[in-house]
Amino acid sequence: MSYVPSASRYDSMKYNRCGNSGLLLPAISLGLWHNFGSVDVFDNGRNIVRRAFDRGITHFDLANNYGPEPGSAEENFGQILKKDFPGYLRDELIISSKAGYLMWPGPYGNWGSRKYLISSLDQSLQRMGLEYVDIFYSHRPDPETPIEETMMALDSVVRQGKALYVGLSNYTAEQADKAIQVLKSLGTPCLIHQPKYSMFERWVEGGLLDVLEKHGVGCIPFSPLAQGMLTDKYLKGIPEGSRAAKEHGFLKEKDITPERLQKIQKLNELAKTRNQSLAQTALSWLLKDKRITTVLIGASSVAQLDNNIDALNNIDYSESELKAIEDILK
Ligand code: NDP
Repeated sequence: MSYVPSASRYDSMKYNRCGNSGLLLPAISLGLWHNFGSVDVFDNGRNIVRRAFDRGITHFDLANNYGPEPGSAEENFGQILKKDFPGYLRDELIISSKAGYLMWPGPYGNWGSRKYLISSLDQSLQRMGLEYVDIFYSHRPDPETPIEETMMALDSVVRQGKALYVGLSNYTAEQADKAIQVLKSLGTPCLIHQPKYSMFERWVEGGLLDVLEKHGVGCIPFSPLAQGMLTDKYLKGIPEGSRAAKEHGFLKEKDITPERLQKIQKLNELAKTRNQSLAQTALSWLLKDKRITTVLIGASSVAQLDNNIDALNNIDYSESELKAIEDILK
């Protein structure tokens, strides 16, 4: 059936300014790392994207290697755009891609050289059927390539009209500080940083968030639900079809330790006192910090997506709730 976007799509989503930029991003963004590859059911992904847009999610996050197979998430997203999002809707979408991890064999298909980043973006554009992406990221710092070269490649793709903004992902506070300054000197400001950040993964609190704030750069935490651990999903074992049960992917059964389960149980009880699901509490806990522009979720169903967006109904925390969470996470 042909898709007609909901007329009320902008009525309830919250949009936050990304650092000091002119760009507003929805408080919740959708990532296509999992559930959109060639091994997944195309129509399920398509329904998730449609529903996301209907509820005001304008920002879709991809990377060259998302799949599996690497590249297939961009191909499938390109198909969804072609089928459901006629050209005039392109101006209502923020589409991100990245390069930095292994994508093709040989010395030019990985890390952070100018050669790799620019050819990878060309490939991503082709897979998605786009003329430009809105945000292009260096997916990870490259210890062997001068940071100046990687940042010059980001600056170039903006000047070439292939990206509107650029971002960094997985850079430490120190690396980000340097990269942001190089970008500034080139005349292309860094828009955003994409680090792993959740109740279970808090390294960004040790300096990165301060660096981003100092430079007016936005922050988009990825895996805010710790790949599903910060939901009620694993409370009664490993459900069939869940990420931890799948062969591909990075969440393994052994990651769900008894100690972690105990914390999840306690957090789940606390979420109930807020009339939220645990997923909603995990997301709103991140969004309470004004330095967080948007949280980058994944979802394997429309029901999960809806549940997560409803986190925005309550993003305020009392001091005692915050303390209780710290006590559980200790
Ligand atoms: P999350 O931590 O949000 O995990 C998503 C998974 O959690 C879903 O696939 C689902 O698991 C489960 N889930 C989501 N909502 C619910 C819910 N309401 N109830 C129960 N279970 C739920 O994020 P991801 O790890 O998927 O990462 C999000 C995005 O971040 C990626 O798509 C990608 O765009 C980006 N990313 C960036 C990286 C980088 O290096 N820059 C690295 C990794 C991710 P299930 O499938 O089992 O149902």
